[in-house]
Order: sequence, then C-alpha cells, then structure tokens
Amino acid sequence: MMKQCMLEAKNIAAGYQGRRIIEGLNFQALRGELLILMGPNGAGKSTLLKTIAGRLPVMAGEMVLQGKAWDAFSVQERARQIGAFFPERIRTEHMTCREMVEMGRYPYTGHFGVLGKADRLAVEEALELTNVTELADKDLMELSDGQRQRVLLARAICQEPKLLILDEPTAYLDIRYQLEFLSLLRKLCKERDIAAVLSVHEVELAWRAADQLLCIKDGAMAAYGTPEEVLKEDQLQKLFEIDPDKLGKDGSPELEQYAKMLGRGR
Ligand code: ADP
Ligand code: MG
Repeated sequence: MMKQCMLEAKNIAAGYQGRRIIEGLNFQALRGELLILMGPNGAGKSTLLKTIAGRLPVMAGEMVLQGKAWDAFSVQERARQIGAFFPERIRTEHMTCREMVEMGRYPYTGHFGVLGKADRLAVEEALELTNVTELADKDLMELSDGQRQRVLLARAICQEPKLLILDEPTAYLDIRYQLEFLSLLRKLCKERDIAAVLSVHEVELAWRAADQLLCIKDGAMAAYGTPEEVLKEDQLQKLFEIDPDKLGKDGSPELEQYAKMLGRGR
C-alpha cells in the first residue's frame, strides 16, 4: 500500500527579509513516518522548519498539505493541522505541566478560551501518551530537561495536529532520553497516522530513527531518501566526515541497547 503524503514541498524557497536562505527543496512527509533533517550548523534546517510551521513565508514554490494548497488554509486552520515544537527558552512562573499542555488547545479555544470536555480529554490523552500524567500538577520548572521535553511534546500533540514540526527536540537530552523521546515520537506517528518533520543534530541518532532523511547543505538539498539510500550515495560521509562503514555497526553499547527501542533494527 502506498503511504499517504501529509505534506509535499515542491521546489520551495524561504528566508528572511526577502533574502532566500533555502532554495529548491523537494520532499514529502508521509503519514506514520519521521522525516529527519540533517545538516551542518547554518545549513537552513531551522529556517525550513519555521517555514513549514508558518512562521516564515514561502517565497517560491508550492507547499501542499493533505492534498490542499498552502494558501487554501486560513492561518487558524493551518495552526490546527500543524503542531510545533521550537527550542525557545521557556520561562514560566508557577505554571503546571497540565497548564502548559492546555496551551496546545489555543487553536480551538483562543487565548482566553475555556476548555470544554473534548479539550480536557485531549489534554489528558496527550499527558498519558507522553508519560507525564504523574507530573501533571508539578511546576514546569521543577522538571528535568527530559521530562520538560515530554511535556512540550504533549502540548504539541494535544492540539491533535496532522503534522508535527520539531526543531532539535533531542538537544540537551542525554543519549538515553534522546532515544526514549524518538521512539515515543515514532510510536505516536504510527498510532495517530500523522507525519513528523524534525531536525536531529546527532548523525547516528538521526540515521537510526528516520524513515526518510533530508540532508541540507548551504540551503540546498544534498541528499534525500531512506537512510540506506542516503548512505549509499556517500552523502553522509561528505557532509559529516564520518565513516559510513561504521554507522549502525560499532555503536556504543548504550546506543546498541537503546536502538531496539526505535524498532528499526539498525
Ligand atoms: P540550521 O538550523 O541548519 O543551523 P538556520 O536555518 O538557523 O540553520 O540558519 C540558516 C541561515 O539563516 C544562517 O546563515 C543564519 O545566519 C540565517 N538566519 C537564521 N535566522 C535568521 C534571521 N532571523 N534573520 C536573518 N537570517 C537568519
Ligand atoms: Mg537550527
């Protein structure tokens, strides 16, 4: 069965103040899958993610969401479809985890909106899925980095998006939590039949967790395909100066141990 396309980018360009940073990007994000962006610092990964999340305008090309042109959506409609997770420093005073997750319902209720029954249900479901139900009444600032990342993921998913956008969600996590987070994300995408586009800094981790990889260099596509396809093209070596023969083989014992959690067998 052909996997359905959630988001298709056709030759898109984007950037800041009229200046193009990324250009000529073509890719698809499929339902149930993780599309992982890789590339050196400054390559344009965050710029692309901000564009998909609607924070930057599409300057050229076409973006298609669920078979419908980007412009055919109202801003609010699109906000409901796309859940975003950006590494902004969150500074909250006396906000509980549940309150943070409830913010994910804003596209439905508005900023001062009262949560209805369906909203509350979505919040509790998201807390449960990300394994933070026990932390729900704790102050957000009391949590570990790993726990806080999960709460932010819960906020993004309680919005019930079709597409999740995450910019380096595993940054600041140690290897165990990185793998835990990515396996949770994989599970979520499968169970809810949604797509995720995310950037991951660690090559080995990205390679193991991705269904599709998009390597970006200087704002252009350097490689795109399944991790195996990308590896064959030698692009990982060129981009990151790593030895592709070693990838997925002589990983650290810890990586090997947790690789199973990703269910990829690589
Ligand atoms: P990555 O996430 O791959 O590290 P970015 O998308 O953050 O790369 O950055 C790509 C390029 O865009 C860089 O050259 C960066 O200087 C530039 N850039 C990033 N943010 C802005 C901004 N707000 N205004 C202008 N240029 C920016
Ligand atoms: Mg970035």
